[in-house]
Amino acid sequence: MEQNMTTLIMIFGATGDLAKRKLFPSLYRLFERGRIANRFAVIGVARRPLSNDQFQQSVKDSVTSALGAKQNLDQFASHFYYQSHDVTDSNSYIALKKLADEIDTHNHLEGNRIFYLAMAPEFFGSIALHLKADGLTNVKGYKRLVIEKPFGHDLESAKELNEQIRTAFSEEEIYRIDHYLGKEMVRNIEVIRFANAIFEPLWNNRYISNIQITSSETLGVEERGRYYESSGALRDMLQNHMMQIVALLAMEPPISLTTKEIRLEKVRVFRSLRTIKGEAVNDYFVRGQYGEGEIDQKKVPKYRDEPMVNNESNTETFVAGKVMIDNFRWAGVPFYIRTGKRMETKSTKIVIQFKDIPMNLYYRPEKELSPNLLVIHIQPEEGITLHLNAKKAGSHLDAQEVKLSFSNTGTYAMNTPEGYEKLLFDCMRGDATNFTHWDEVAYSWAFVDEISKVWDQTKGDFPNYDAGTMGPKAADELLEKDGFFWWPINNLDVDNCR
Ligand code: NAD
Repeated sequence: MEQNMTTLIMIFGATGDLAKRKLFPSLYRLFERGRIANRFAVIGVARRPLSNDQFQQSVKDSVTSALGAKQNLDQFASHFYYQSHDVTDSNSYIALKKLADEIDTHNHLEGNRIFYLAMAPEFFGSIALHLKADGLTNVKGYKRLVIEKPFGHDLESAKELNEQIRTAFSEEEIYRIDHYLGKEMVRNIEVIRFANAIFEPLWNNRYISNIQITSSETLGVEERGRYYESSGALRDMLQNHMMQIVALLAMEPPISLTTKEIRLEKVRVFRSLRTIKGEAVNDYFVRGQYGEGEIDQKKVPKYRDEPMVNNESNTETFVAGKVMIDNFRWAGVPFYIRTGKRMETKSTKIVIQFKDIPMNLYYRPEKELSPNLLVIHIQPEEGITLHLNAKKAGSHLDAQEVKLSFSNTGTYAMNTPEGYEKLLFDCMRGDATNFTHWDEVAYSWAFVDEISKVWDQTKGDFPNYDAGTMGPKAADELLEKDGFFWWPINNLDVDNCR
C-alpha cells in the first residue's frame, strides 16, 4: 500500500453541506495530528463565484463551528484554493486543469490527485467523463475518485454510472464512500470476531439463534424531502449501510487483512443472500411511513406533511427485514435488520443473540434465564456489552443477568477520529478496504431491487407508525412469528449495566 500523503484534492461541491460539516473539519483534524504533510492542497470547486480569501474564510468557519476555536487555522486554510465551476461545461474543466497544474508544480505535489465528488449524484457520471476528456486525470502520480452515495437508484442505473466512471478510473482507483465503514465500531466488528478465541468458535448457526441490527433516527426527513421521495429507507439506508454491516458480521475470516481478501469474503456473503422476490417479499420485509407523533415532548408532523413531500407519498421511511444467508455457517440464522426515521431513539446497535443452553438448572417458573447477548454499540455510544448470567449475590442459587461492558465513549472518545477523517486518510494512503467494491454494490442492488419491484407496484398502508415509536406493529410480528422479539434498544445501553 502506498503511504504517499502528498496530494492535490479537488472537492466538487465545496460550498455544500457535506464539505462544510464533514470534509473540511476532517481535513483539519488530519492536519492537526500531523497525518497529512504540508505538501497538500485543496481546490474547492462549486458553482458560485468566490475569491480564494472568501473560500478560505468559509473553510475556517466550518472548522471552528465543528471543532471550536483552533490554532494554526490560517496555516491550514492557506492550502485551500477556489475555482468557480459549472460541472456541465467543458470550459470550466479546462480552467480547472490549468489551476490544478499550476498548484501541483508550485507545491511539488507529484501529480497525485484525489477527485472528491460531494455533489448531487446525477452529476457523478458526467464529471468523471469530463475529468478524463479535459485532461485532468492525465497525471504522472496517482489519480483517485471518491464518490458519495447514492451509487445509483437500482442495479441498472448503478451499472450505467459505473460504466461512466470506469471510462476514466479503474476499479482500484474508485473509492465508493459508505460512511458507516468509517465508524470506529463498524471497523471493530472484524477485530472482535477474528481476534477473540471466545467468539469465533461460536460464530455460527450452532450457537447463534439470531442477529438484530437496528439503525434508528429521531430526525425526520428535514430538508431532504425531494431526494428522499425517490429513495426511501430501503435505498437510502438498507442497500448500503445495513447490508455492509451484515457482510462484516457474516463473512468468513479472510486469509489476510488486505483489501482484496476482505472484499472477496464480503462478496461471498452477498452471493449467499437468499433472494426474496414476488409474494415472499411481504413475508420477509416490512415497510413503514411515519405519522404525526411526539419526539422530545414536541409534536412533529407526519411524513406526508413534510416539505417537498407528496401528500399521498408511497415512500417508506422505515424498513425492517429478515435476511437469510444460505451458506454452511449461517443456514437457518435470521439476520433481522431495521432502520427508520422519526423513531423513538437515535441508535445504531447490533445484538447477537446466542442459543439457549441445553438445560436450564436455574429455572424458576416466574423467571426464565436470559439468553447470552453480545451487543455492539455503533452510535451514539461506542462499545461492546456481553450479557451473561451469574449468581445473584446473597441468594441461594438464583441466577441474574449481568453485563460486562466496554465503552469507547469515555475511554477513547477524545482520540477517536470521525468516520470521514479515517476515510479521507485511507484514500490518501491508497487503502480501499473500507470502501465498497463494485461487486458488493451490484449484489446488494440486485437483492434490494426485488423488494422495491414489489413495493413500487402496491400502495403501502401509510402512515403506519407514530413518530417517536420503534416502527409499525408488523415489524414486531416479523420476529414474533419466528419466536423472537426485538431487544429493547434503550435497555441495552453500555452504561445501563449493573
Ligand atoms: P449540497 O446541496 O449541500 O451541496 C451541493 C454542492 O454542489 C454545492 O457546493 C453546489 O455549489 C454544487 N453544485 C451544484 N450544481 C453544480 C454545478 N452545476 N456545477 C458546480 N457545482 C455545483 O449537497 P450535500 O448535502 O453536500 O451532498 C453532496 C453529496 O454528498 C450528495 O451526493 C449526498 O447524497 C452526499 N451525502 C451528503 C451527506 C451530508 O451529510 N450532507 C451525507 C452523506 C452523503
